[in-house]
Amino acid sequence: MSNQNLLEELVEIARSFASYGKVADYIPALSDQNPDDLAICIYSIENESFYAGDHLKKFTLQSISKVITLALVLMDNGEEEVFSKVGMEPTGDPFNSIAKLETNKPSKPLNPMINAGALAVTNMIKGDTVVEKWDRLIEFISHLTGQKVTYNEDVAYSELQTANLNRSLCYFMKQHGVITGNVEDLLVLYTKQCAVEMNCVDLAKIGAVFANDGLDPESGKQLISRDVARICKTFMVTCGMYNSSGEFAIKVGIPAKSGVSGGIMGSVPGRCGIGIFGPALDEVGNSFAGVKLLEGLSAKYSWSIF
Ligand code: GLN
Repeated sequence: MSNQNLLEELVEIARSFASYGKVADYIPALSDQNPDDLAICIYSIENESFYAGDHLKKFTLQSISKVITLALVLMDNGEEEVFSKVGMEPTGDPFNSIAKLETNKPSKPLNPMINAGALAVTNMIKGDTVVEKWDRLIEFISHLTGQKVTYNEDVAYSELQTANLNRSLCYFMKQHGVITGNVEDLLVLYTKQCAVEMNCVDLAKIGAVFANDGLDPESGKQLISRDVARICKTFMVTCGMYNSSGEFAIKVGIPAKSGVSGGIMGSVPGRCGIGIFGPALDEVGNSFAGVKLLEGLSAKYSWSIF
């Protein structure tokens, strides 16, 4: 069977699991996504791509943006500065939990893949104004995909109106000196970052840059430093799939980051990037069918890094 036929077959098998999941609705604008959607692209470091399902359908990055912003902020500020504000350890808690912000001493978020840590990271994007910071971030993401990327205004606005949990994380961190500046400005930037929109081909391309040690397979340019790409992939393994990262490491074994829109970015070191969109989520917030699809692919191609 050709790679293309195999991919199509795996997508149809995985799609049957979508009915066990549920589309996120705590961000109201995400609730009208179609739970049966499923699309994948595999983008090799030789700059070849294969796809199946509705690969041109756009979706918002949500938490997947956390790993991209982390890359920019690490290159802007250096490891020492970034890790003085955010830790390196998995939490085992849901992505939006506030609990360990109080119990962890010193009072800083445990890692950059949970909401508290991601907010602290977004707070470190360089720029004098929100507009300047946003312009730098969206330009960086556009370089990674190789084309101009934008964000979904409805989704960003919808999240901003309902982001009271994230608001409370910010105020807690401001009190403890983890973040500085105006909280509402930070939330505007963060919700726009989460609402960055693309299809699974663009997402797979970004995964391929990480897989290729930061080198763009298309242009040959070093878009992310090798060290930063390594750090980001490590966080994807330890914390990328929320509080099921351990199970995912055993069953799939690919550095990956998911988002509540149903996107997953995978990065198979030295091989390829993977972009998936399947909005029906499991109980921790990962794409139900997307995880099944990755299990099938990893087993078939022996992609586990372990
Ligand atoms: N924008 C979302 C939030 O902050 C991202 C969460 C996610 O994708 N897990 O709640």
